[in-house]
Amino acid sequence: MSDLTQGQLLIDGQWREAGRGQRFDVLAPASESVLGSAAQADEPDVARAVTAARKGFAQWSSLAPKLREAALLRAADWIEQHGLAQWLDLLIDESGSTISKARGEIAYSVDLLRIAAGEARRLYGDTFPNDDPQRVSMVFREPLGVVAIVSPYNAPLALLVKMVAFPLAAGNAVVIKPSEETPLIALAFARALLEAGIPAAAVNVVTGFGAECGAPLVSHPEIDGIALTGSTATGQRIGAAAMQRMLRTQLELGGKSALLVLRDVDVDKAATIAATGMFSHAGQICMANSRIVVEAPAYDAFLKAFKAACESLHLGDLRDPDTAYGPLINRRALEKVQQHQRNATERGTELLTGGSVVRGLTYAPTVLLEPPRDCSAWRDESFGPITSVVKANDLDDAIAIANDSEFGLSAGVLTHNAQWGFRAARGIRSGSVHIGMHSFQSNALAPIGGLGLSGIGRSGGRYSIEEFTELKWVSLELGCDDPA
Ligand code: NAD
Repeated sequence: MSDLTQGQLLIDGQWREAGRGQRFDVLAPASESVLGSAAQADEPDVARAVTAARKGFAQWSSLAPKLREAALLRAADWIEQHGLAQWLDLLIDESGSTISKARGEIAYSVDLLRIAAGEARRLYGDTFPNDDPQRVSMVFREPLGVVAIVSPYNAPLALLVKMVAFPLAAGNAVVIKPSEETPLIALAFARALLEAGIPAAAVNVVTGFGAECGAPLVSHPEIDGIALTGSTATGQRIGAAAMQRMLRTQLELGGKSALLVLRDVDVDKAATIAATGMFSHAGQICMANSRIVVEAPAYDAFLKAFKAACESLHLGDLRDPDTAYGPLINRRALEKVQQHQRNATERGTELLTGGSVVRGLTYAPTVLLEPPRDCSAWRDESFGPITSVVKANDLDDAIAIANDSEFGLSAGVLTHNAQWGFRAARGIRSGSVHIGMHSFQSNALAPIGGLGLSGIGRSGGRYSIEEFTELKWVSLELGCDDPA
């Protein structure tokens, strides 16, 4: 596969068309024109990929950990040397990323691979005391086998690298089903893994749609685990099917993260932080602070500063380093944002700013004031550049408002008072809380994941290894061969 815009399936080390010969168009969100195409896999292609992965698992899991570490490090080196030159344009065009977001994804991918490589040699087991002195008890940590990786479109490289690198480090083989919006960058990453010398059958990619390609993958009887980063609706569907087979399943799903702005903040700084945490990548970020809760004494001044911060965001060309964000991924995503906005404004909600299309699929930073708490813009994930600001009487009220959500992915608390910050961190029900920062934070070592509708399990560093390995208790009777 030399032309990165013409994707084929990767099965057992071979680039090939789908069995039915079908392909689908991949669009560039900025122009809504055709960027390329990819093979459209269905159930028989998926079955072939899973069969290959079983073979790949036998090869890869039997390699010495230091060889798995070395291969992942070589993949990191390859991306560091070639990623910017070969992938930057593809990432910008296929996902509608700004140049700085695309650069960041490539750099983060290198970091993730290096951290995962280190984990390959740290699959520690354990022993525990046995009351019978003739018996020894050990705990082994073993890979699951073949893991199905189903990935989203918003950070189509970095999230995929994270979802693939750690299971591989633990000795698993993978079958990847990337988002149908962004299959091409996923195929480019798979190529880098092959270049790095990972046994070809251990990394397979099937491109296609959720129902036709993703569903047969996650329900295939030879799959041993599933990792999904995607919407809550998809997570519920996959989770329900996975439970029929009691499969290990890691689900990183949607969010409706709160940013608390407490009374002691510098409102101008808080407004800049809030705008970055909300509008990066047009709000197509699971941890975007899509609910902003401001303590009453800071409310009026924050609104003024936040309006100015939103209206100063530059929405220019994706390759202009000053561009804050670009288009939504597709028309459906744009319509969802508009519908969430209408659902609030038709019920009398004031618009602080925004509410219009800038061009194509690019939507202005949009801020609702005090929407009804049962409207979709407050309750559901919009996954676009729309947020709400509400007033809290005090810290306890702010924490209660933050917890008024079925999601629980991340939160930010802006304050200079460490005790207030810690009180909020202890009180907010979510997978992470960041004091002095917005809610959109990443770290390759951190346990990233959520509570409630935001998912199950954690990814990052050793936490990913726990997700993609099983523990096995092995015991030994010392006296059984006693010659006496
Ligand atoms: P999506 O759920 O529409 O799709 C995700 C993947 O699932 C795609 O590859 C899709 O083809 C596949 N899929 C869809 N239906 C399927 C089925 N029935 N069986 C198997 N696979 C199926 O999500 P998206 O729109 O691509 O991504 C955006 C969502 O991802 C948002 O909700 C966002 O919050 C979430 N997300 C979460 C995190 C996190 O860390 N929690 C990170 C990024 C994105």
